[in-house]
Amino acid sequence: MPDTCLFCKIIKGEIPSDTLYEDDQLLAFRDIAPAAPIHFLVIPKKHISGPSAVAEEDEQLIGRMMRVGSKVAKKEGIEQFRVVFNNGEEAGQTVFHIHMHILGGRNLSWPPG
Ligand code: AMP
Repeated sequence: MPDTCLFCKIIKGEIPSDTLYEDDQLLAFRDIAPAAPIHFLVIPKKHISGPSAVAEEDEQLIGRMMRVGSKVAKKEGIEQFRVVFNNGEEAGQTVFHIHMHILGGRNLSWPPG
């Protein structure tokens, strides 16, 4: 776990977050710069730099992110939402600790810009 990783610091409680869900493997918290009325992130506590770095041993963990994200979305009052994983700078990834964006609460256009 790199000392410089922002999301590892959030997991350790060194940086505050608006937590929506936590268990021994996963954390969900509101995005600090929401791009929709509901916008939160689901992250594994294990440091994985991004989608391309997911190993076979992580498959169950990544699947759990989807299940937990859906449950948190329902709790937040949305059943329709967009799920985004950015992989690499060109795709818009700015934090290199894998995270699943969940966005909803408004009509979302497609394709993204
Ligand atoms: P990405 O651009 O896919 O790497 O997404 C990173 C996301 O993390 C962005 O939507 C940021 O707004 C969000 N973010 C950055 N710092 C924080 C923070 N301290 N708490 C919550 N969300 C953050």
